[in-house]
Amino acid sequence: MTKADKIKQSIKLTKEKRKLQTPKVFQLKLQTLSKSDIKTLERLFLEAKWFYNYLIADIDSRLNKKSEKLKVVEIKTPNSFEKRELNLLGSQVKQGIIERIKTSLKALKKLKEQGYKVGKLQFKSDFKSIPLKQFRITYKIDFKRNRIKVQGIRKWFRVLGLHQIPKNSEIANAFLVKKPSGFYLYVVCYLWREEVLREIKQKQTSIPVGIKYQLTLTTGESFKWYIPETKRLKRLQKILARKRKGSKNYQKIKRLIQKEWEYIKNKRKDIQNKVISYLKKFPFIAVQRDDIKGWHEGLFGKEVQNTGIGGITARLKYLATFIPVEFVPKYEATTQTCCRCGFKQKVELNERTYKCQKCGLEIDRDLNGAWNILKIGLKQLAKKNKVLADRLKSALPVDCGEVTPVEWGLSPR
Ligand SMILES: [Zn+2]
Repeated sequence: MTKADKIKQSIKLTKEKRKLQTPKVFQLKLQTLSKSDIKTLERLFLEAKWFYNYLIADIDSRLNKKSEKLKVVEIKTPNSFEKRELNLLGSQVKQGIIERIKTSLKALKKLKEQGYKVGKLQFKSDFKSIPLKQFRITYKIDFKRNRIKVQGIRKWFRVLGLHQIPKNSEIANAFLVKKPSGFYLYVVCYLWREEVLREIKQKQTSIPVGIKYQLTLTTGESFKWYIPETKRLKRLQKILARKRKGSKNYQKIKRLIQKEWEYIKNKRKDIQNKVISYLKKFPFIAVQRDDIKGWHEGLFGKEVQNTGIGGITARLKYLATFIPVEFVPKYEATTQTCCRCGFKQKVELNERTYKCQKCGLEIDRDLNGAWNILKIGLKQLAKKNKVLADRLKSALPVDCGEVTPVEWGLSPR
């Protein structure tokens, strides 16, 4: 793959990702600035202005990559031309200004095409907003110490308002803005739509949910639990084997075994109750039958039998009288299919992460399955109740997010 292809692909992937995200701008005010800090910042804005005016004075020969490296520009003064040094303006910041001019020119061209009369780009007497294109390159954020740094300026500045930025949002570009009230950093963040939804509705109960092995939910939660047969039970079974069938002692041990079984069953029921009462919060549930059955038969053997998942299906059926529950048939290939682009590929049992060969999605194997189950479940539901299915779909974060699954320990033993 050539470098250009790689860049193209990365842009495409980002575009795909942005579909699942919502942009939000956070305003951070620069705090406790000393006189010299203000002088430095003023100088930065001045240099940005010089650079901008220098470029638009001769767009044809100056609007190019070479200008990113300029250390000195010539500006027009009332009487002549004078040289100005660019000491603070970083090369990526210059790049950002070049791109801004390009965007403006494109917009002007479009207006012209639409029949509007357009002039040229005007010289600026004041530069109020400096584009900072790349997070970590043109600017940095130190969340622990509430500070930010701008390329070209050595000092870190204290800011107010960092707490507003949600932890797992993606930080993109920013703008350094000069206002009469002070200096600000406007940070553009991309929030996962699911989180935006959560924020709006203040509760996650509006997001439909699908279930896969050991109950992985599309919300990224994963329930794992295991209740083994107790040591006591094993011991009792050994004793029973030595007793004569039908004898008084045999009957006594048998009753003890039954009691022990009841204890284990109650434990399992208790977990099922917790799971079901948690699932009740969701407006819709899709589950694949295959998983539950398959667990008992093959691959996972005893360990899975002990989870008491069979009881969950029965309970889900009961739950279906309160909220819509769809059972997805076992022949649906939910593990092999990419939940974002629908591509199918072979997946080995030991591969915990699904890496799509077509669209590049990397997602937890079970989470991928859960999303596929949910999609199929919603299709099934649409045949019975299209209005409801559409409503549930609209509450979904478009396709599936690259959400990190959270381990949700349910009284493990
Ligand atoms: Zn894919």
